[in-house]
Amino acid sequence: MSPGKARLATGASERDLILADLLAHGRFLSGLSSIGVPVPSAAALKVDATAGTGAPASTRIGAPAGDRPEPRTDDPAAALAAIRADLGDCRRCKLASGRKTIVFGQGNPRAELMFVGEAPGSEEDEQGLAFVGRAGQLLTDIIEKGMKMKRSDVWIGNVLKCRPPQNRNPEPDEILSCQPFLEAQIRTIRPRVLVGLGKFAAHWLLRTAEPISRLRGRLGDHDGIPVMPTYHPAYLLRNPGAKKDVWEDMKTVLGLLGRPVPGPGE
Ligand code: URA
Repeated sequence: MSPGKARLATGASERDLILADLLAHGRFLSGLSSIGVPVPSAAALKVDATAGTGAPASTRIGAPAGDRPEPRTDDPAAALAAIRADLGDCRRCKLASGRKTIVFGQGNPRAELMFVGEAPGSEEDEQGLAFVGRAGQLLTDIIEKGMKMKRSDVWIGNVLKCRPPQNRNPEPDEILSCQPFLEAQIRTIRPRVLVGLGKFAAHWLLRTAEPISRLRGRLGDHDGIPVMPTYHPAYLLRNPGAKKDVWEDMKTVLGLLGRPVPGPGE
């Protein structure tokens, strides 16, 4: 199947794809900015991909975060399977040659809460599952012991679906190649809240290059969905003192979800 046909299999119109490409370009420029290349401000690059499509204003980029917008499909599991089929044996970027397994992300297709990390590490590359190494165990503890939610009830994915060599940072061309798939996953799942784990996920979701130390704990917005940027679990393994900050952020997330905030020792 040609790449064009493969992409249209997601159900997107030509217009959607053109707008997605414009957004991708904006994110690419943000990526360049985060590695020190001067580009126009992120705000100047924002595009309303739903203007004129009849989509409710609450689903539009830049709209205030509010109630969960209408899902775009009543069968998100099938839509996710179609996105996975589009991805195929992906060779769209240079990471294909070094990866063992594509890590699509996993969880509940109707998740109210979606975690976005950076990229698979070696354990994830082996198993084909997101966050199953040491950082993943800590993420599980945050979700299950801290938030008293089941890991299987949330969705967990990454900005990149293939492991970068030696776990190096994602590069702008790789982020650009992968971005339509994460965009499609977010549009399909339509979580009530997104959590950006670490700098790369926070930058991708919020279309900014601000340092994670400044972003952390401040709610943002991704296409009408509230985004909580927080520290990456791998950072917490190296800096356990920062766990209390992440817990503050998760309490805000629980509040947004209308869920009880467990007290200390609960
Ligand atoms: N780190 C990430 O960002 N993602 C994973 O899936 C694992 C570790």
